[in-house]
Amino acid sequence: MIKLIIIIILSFCIILSVKNKSQVVEQPIVKKEIKNEDPDFILINNKNYASVYEDVTSQSEKSFGNAHGRSTNVHETAHMISAKYRNIYKKEYGKCNVFYCLKGRIVVLKEPNLLITDVIVPENLRGYRYDLYFRKQLKYWNDSPTYIFDEWNAYILGAECAVEDHQKNIYTEKTDAVSGCFEFSIYSVAVCMAIKEKHPEYWEKEENLKKFMKFNLKRAAKAFKIGKDVFKSPKQTELYNKFKKDNKMKDFMLKEFGEFFNIK
Ligand SMILES: [Zn+2]
Repeated sequence: MIKLIIIIILSFCIILSVKNKSQVVEQPIVKKEIKNEDPDFILINNKNYASVYEDVTSQSEKSFGNAHGRSTNVHETAHMISAKYRNIYKKEYGKCNVFYCLKGRIVVLKEPNLLITDVIVPENLRGYRYDLYFRKQLKYWNDSPTYIFDEWNAYILGAECAVEDHQKNIYTEKTDAVSGCFEFSIYSVAVCMAIKEKHPEYWEKEENLKKFMKFNLKRAAKAFKIGKDVFKSPKQTELYNKFKKDNKMKDFMLKEFGEFFNIK
């Protein structure tokens, strides 16, 4: 039954992502903000929000809805925000992707010249979502490897919402609410490894990708650290233990981005 619910929710990701791929929305923008080691954010608004839930669901004319919980609503609405601003910024950046990072901030990254099929995730580091995103979704997204970052960012926002809701005693998911942000951290690092190998000019030039990676790894690690014991999942524990033993990926992460998830 749980597996069925997960499949239904994951299916929404596909439907929304594909549906929103061709959506074009005009929106006036904005100003750039650069702060320390943070990525180069573009501000789409400057409002204060009481919660992650309110922040994300306020950025879209219509949110996904709470039928599958607040965390899933945040995840799916994050895809809508990405699609909306991707269509706006492609005029300036060419083929690109956009990631909502709370507090009215987005990060825009150009698409590297790479296929998702170029990304190698070692077999022992493939979680239960791998098959959907690295096989079944390829017909839609193979030429857009930053799609993996889009899912990652959506899982991080969903995890941040679940953790915050838990801390505020708002009813939320019982299990598995932070495993996606960890699983996709692995996949996103694997995308970077492929970019460095297959598209080294992009890797050297796109400092904002490295800043975005550090920024999101930090968010994912924080949500996972708090959430893994609240939203328990045997599969996330198993994947985490395997990740700690995978020297190649661990070394790449340590060298390029620093230490996250307490993996040394
Ligand atoms: Zn999704």
